Amino acid sequence: MNVLIFGGTGFIGRNLIEELLANGYKVSVVTRNHQKEVNQFGNKIQVIEWDNISPLSSIYKFDQIDVVINLAGESIGSRRWTNSVKAEIIASRIRTTGAIVAAINNGIIQPKVLINASAVGYYGLCEDEEITESAEVGQDFLAQVCREWENEAYKVQNAGTRVATIRIGVVLGNEGALNRMALPFRYFIGGPLGNGNQWLSWIHIRDLTSMIRFIIEHQELAGPINAVAPNPVRMGEFSKMLGYVLARPSWLPVPEILLKIALGQMAEMLLHGQRAVPRKVLSADFKYKFPKLKAALENAMGNRKGV
Ligand code: NDP
Repeated sequence: MNVLIFGGTGFIGRNLIEELLANGYKVSVVTRNHQKEVNQFGNKIQVIEWDNISPLSSIYKFDQIDVVINLAGESIGSRRWTNSVKAEIIASRIRTTGAIVAAINNGIIQPKVLINASAVGYYGLCEDEEITESAEVGQDFLAQVCREWENEAYKVQNAGTRVATIRIGVVLGNEGALNRMALPFRYFIGGPLGNGNQWLSWIHIRDLTSMIRFIIEHQELAGPINAVAPNPVRMGEFSKMLGYVLARPSWLPVPEILLKIALGQMAEMLLHGQRAVPRKVLSADFKYKFPKLKAALENAMGNRKGV
């Protein structure tokens, strides 16, 4: 099966390429200009350059593409949310998804499935209720990003293309948010963010990549899918477990006001979470390698006590 990945040079993308190659898929990656990030795969994958503007029909003559996976988008957590950063966070996602959808609707590519990334941020700032895929969209900035991103993906008009949007939780792996979260623990100043009561939906990178493959292989899975582990935790518990795995204390809560001063509007993302549950994949009998936080963190941190 031929898979075309947008945003495949990033953290999730590179792990996904590994998973797909190991399972006999042929992989092509479309990138703005980051071939070096995927050099590790050598000629096992094909790399196609795209300026993120031109119609896809003008850059390449695509062969049979069975699967399209779209992970591309300006990073959400690496820069303060000024108006221009917020505009790029939305526009980068709509541009890429829009170009993919146009290529499908014009018959340039005719995949059997389009899997488009989204995030549990779709549900907005939630309290204690369990959130399944049928919950309402939220009101804050990230919810708006996810709503517009998903709406763009669902503009696919080809009846032969199944569309799934994966609402991803915080991904635990050797890169990404976990490294940033672990940093204060190294200096013995780790602790929960805010009052620690907010929920945090997480997923181990290995489970996320095998879940994406599971969705490719299970035709009954379509529409929004919560890509999270079955056991979300409160931020306080997450910090405690992270401290335990790193053999560091988790004792110094980061006050809400400090986060707001340091991060501006982005602080909302850390102070309010979602208790998302993966109802759809559990019903389809997806098996997790890391359903519980302790084993997931131990594996993701490589058991590096006192990192
Ligand atoms: P990365 O930031 O590691 O990778 C994203 C990729 O998107 C990059 O490799 C890049 O590909 C492309 N990209 C970056 N900026 C732009 C831009 N301005 N315009 C167009 N393309 C751009 O992200 P992750 O792999 O961590 O995540 C993949 C997707 O999943 C993201 O969209 C993210 O929002 C979403 N997600 C991730 C979560 C996580 O915990 N990691 C949680 C929830 C959702 P290239 O340079 O090759 O074009």
